[in-house]
Amino acid sequence: MTSQFTILPNAAPTSAEDRAKLLENPGFGRVFTDHMVVVRYVEGKGWHDAEVKARGPLQIDPASAVLHYAQEIFEGMKAYRLGDGLALFRPEANAARFNLSARRMAMPDVPEDLFIEAVEQLVRIDRDWVPGGGGSLYLRPFMFANEVFLGVKPSSEYLFMVIASSVGAYFKGGKDSVTVWVSTDYTRAAPGGTGSAKCGGNYAASLLAQKQAIEQGCDQVVFLDAAERKWIEELGGMNVFFVMDDGSMVTPPLQGTILPGITRDSIIRLARDEGITVREEPYSYEQWKADARSGKLVETFACGTAAVVTAIGTVKGEDGEFTIGAGGTGQTTARLRDKLTGIQRGTVADPYGWVRRVG
Ligand SMILES: *Cc1c(COP(=O)(O)O)cnc(C)c1O
Repeated sequence: MTSQFTILPNAAPTSAEDRAKLLENPGFGRVFTDHMVVVRYVEGKGWHDAEVKARGPLQIDPASAVLHYAQEIFEGMKAYRLGDGLALFRPEANAARFNLSARRMAMPDVPEDLFIEAVEQLVRIDRDWVPGGGGSLYLRPFMFANEVFLGVKPSSEYLFMVIASSVGAYFKGGKDSVTVWVSTDYTRAAPGGTGSAKCGGNYAASLLAQKQAIEQGCDQVVFLDAAERKWIEELGGMNVFFVMDDGSMVTPPLQGTILPGITRDSIIRLARDEGITVREEPYSYEQWKADARSGKLVETFACGTAAVVTAIGTVKGEDGEFTIGAGGTGQTTARLRDKLTGIQRGTVADPYGWVRRVG
């Protein structure tokens, strides 16, 4: 059904003046564009009624399945302003991951070309909302169960939607590094669970730990594995890398409990192509502490589409805290971040074919 989008432009779009004001300091996830994409799914009929229309509230029945059983998945990706146009970064990877999430949650696949077309349609119609400079247009494709039924079963109806938000830095003030709280009270994902699916429920389950992190004066929470409470898994919404004094890097392996980040995958590729040894292997909280103290560990950074690449300066837990390196952004972190963002913004060559222009 590609290219069968009905386009209904917003009859009362934001004025250029108001938009310019909003784009001055958009923050993260608060400034929304004028349009949204909605595509419907009904069992037996498939995906249909694809529309690009004015962004606005939805009417859903109070018995809509998503409100009760959380059958919902999402993606996060960005459109960037290049010197001569707009581009997405590896959108086919988001489309593929969306379907992995869909299968885990017993939801229908969204054909990859429909997914990408939906995203591109929104970027095109709201192109004036893509900030320049260090900003970008954060795109949020999502799908939820919309059958009106309280029985527990996979829904027979879904909505696939895309909304967009003009964004600046994810962490307030664009800090040089963040402080993290290692949660020993809560875990994020268990073997056999939904940790590798990008589903809203994972975030709901992480919020209390994130709240504790904030209470401890930290920016983010770090989760340990559920089985042994020993191995570092990831942050609430970011993957993590450790840089050693011999130049090698370690990142936790994808074994079903960690979200397979596209930023993570891109960083591994960039690092290996620089000749860096990257080991995808378990790394424990105890080892992290010991290596930071001995100086074997020189940098740690978190990465994801929203926060890009952000150094972790200080780590706090129930038994105290430690600082990594000098507490700021290390050399390897800065170099990989600059290379990645350079490719995304078209200032560094893209030998991987990661950048997809939106005409
Ligand atoms: C989305 C997400 C990430 C990062 O994935 P990217 O594709 O790099 O944006 C990491 N962890 C969790 C839990 C996530 O939801």
